[in-house]
Amino acid sequence: MFCCDLLGEMASRGFVVHEPIHKLANGRILTEIDTDYFFQFGGERPSYAGLHYCPFCGRSLSRELWNREKKK
Ligand SMILES: [Zn+2]
Repeated sequence: MFCCDLLGEMASRGFVVHEPIHKLANGRILTEIDTDYFFQFGGERPSYAGLHYCPFCGRSLSRELWNREKKK
């Protein structure tokens, strides 16, 4: 489910979430990236920043990038 141990660890600590975007309705989405991976900031009403790439291993995490790679 996670590309590397570090991203999995960040998710288990609550810094990163792996959810479809419609499940994040309690917070504010800061980006328009088509991805299921987000950085999570703040508490009761968190802000989410979508991830194009894993910040640890560099793997692409967004559908936008996957689609771009498919077209090559
Ligand atoms: Zn990774």
